[in-house]
Amino acid sequence: MFVDLHTHLDQYEPGELPGMFERARNAGVGAIIAAGVTVESTRRGLELAGEYDNVFAGVGVHPSDLTGELDNDALDQLRFMAGNEQVVVMSEVGLDHQDHSPDRAMQERAFRAQIGIAHEAGLPVVFHMRFATADMLRVLTEERVSVLGGAAHYFQGSHDEAAAVIELGCYISLAKPLLRLPELGKVAREVPLEWIVLETDCYPQPFKGKREKWTEPKDVPMVAAKLAELKGIDVAEVMETTTNNALTMLGHKADRVSAVLR
Ligand SMILES: [Zn+2]
Repeated sequence: MFVDLHTHLDQYEPGELPGMFERARNAGVGAIIAAGVTVESTRRGLELAGEYDNVFAGVGVHPSDLTGELDNDALDQLRFMAGNEQVVVMSEVGLDHQDHSPDRAMQERAFRAQIGIAHEAGLPVVFHMRFATADMLRVLTEERVSVLGGAAHYFQGSHDEAAAVIELGCYISLAKPLLRLPELGKVAREVPLEWIVLETDCYPQPFKGKREKWTEPKDVPMVAAKLAELKGIDVAEVMETTTNNALTMLGHKADRVSAVLR
């Protein structure tokens, strides 16, 4: 079965989730990781992980969601939640250097502090990287993320960026942009399958109109099928290898996740 490495399940109406999980399971997606973007959303994701067997949680505050310095109170709460057995990754953390993004130095302090928590809890770091590649590679290196492992989530970068991420022991996490970006397809074809994981980054998308058009965890196989086509291999191989990659990345948390992939 597939793993959806990165989602925002806490943002859906709770009543939506059982149907989404049934559709995911029918499509072969057996485990879903719910990332946090604030302390509060991390808490909700953790509640979902307690409620549903197929859901696991990430802990983190997203760089774009910083409203000020990530203070000691927030860090204490994140640290406490990171120790929960249902938490399998530090996510969603990272750097976002768009014009309207929060102060870059403040983002970097928050990111480094959260990587520190990942080191304490032994969690891989699933990171957001937007227009911040050079700073990201510097911080990942300085904070020794290679010891923890992790993944560049919703990757849309170049061949060289993918190579640099892999060099640091982190996976390339591919999502639905692969279906529509030929340049990304060229990059994905060259990235060794042993370094690829899959995700949807799903969240409620009312702007898409019809409910059926919203991205859901059930869409992971669409990304896998595209990757299989690009590489000229079977979807079954993509499934097996990307799931194994995700489990390898999860390290000591892998048993808990693999137990639901049956
Ligand atoms: Zn996300």
